[in-house]
Amino acid sequence: MKPLAIFGGTFDPVHLGHLSVAWEASELLDAEVRLMPASVPPHRPPPTASAPQRVAMLRAALQGQSRLALDTRELERAGPSYTIDTLIELRAEQGGRPLVLLIGADAFAGLPGWHRWRELFDLAHVGVLSRPGMDAVLPDELQREISGRRVGEAAAWRHASAGKVIELAVTPLEISATRIRELLASGREPRYLLPAGLFDTAGLLSPYRASR
Ligand code: ATP
Repeated sequence: MKPLAIFGGTFDPVHLGHLSVAWEASELLDAEVRLMPASVPPHRPPPTASAPQRVAMLRAALQGQSRLALDTRELERAGPSYTIDTLIELRAEQGGRPLVLLIGADAFAGLPGWHRWRELFDLAHVGVLSRPGMDAVLPDELQREISGRRVGEAAAWRHASAGKVIELAVTPLEISATRIRELLASGREPRYLLPAGLFDTAGLLSPYRASR
């Protein structure tokens, strides 16, 4: 069975940076990839768009392909979206199947701030996606935790169900949801930074427009 990779985020809104790195990760790892929107991200301010609005955008973005799927379990759970709880649930469902938690390089540097972060490595591999403009220095405690865990994408990590840190050299795309929200709020139309489906369905981007 192919490994299962999870790509979590606020997706406020989902953009071509997310989709492109998720797609490339699925190719590099030969894995099933699920995009998993977070309901109440513990580490950040609340999203601009509501959970149903973010799901509608993700559905529109994922249409017409079968490699990337959507998993809304964190939105269905009450309370904050702790990744550790999601991985415990997935591990119980998936048995010994290799699980990979995909994280952008910027978010990875902040891992020690995550709830029960060291236990994440007991449940999944971590796939670190390179991200331009985010040359974050890894904190010492994270460096110590991952030394000895680092492997390349081609290495024999798939024989283990969890515990490795896989560096994924994906095509750099300097796109962020923050920038897209700023552009939309100032009346711009960032058509080629977002999937076309977000413009084609009326109202999907209205949470970000100044006139809302
Ligand atoms: P914001 O600007 O609102 O912080 P974002 O663009 O970083 O949003 P998130 O939904 O917060 O998007 O990100 C989810 C995950 O996707 C994170 O692990 C983040 O590092 C990663 N990610 C987002 N954009 C890119 C990109 N262009 N390249 C690589 N990874 C990315």
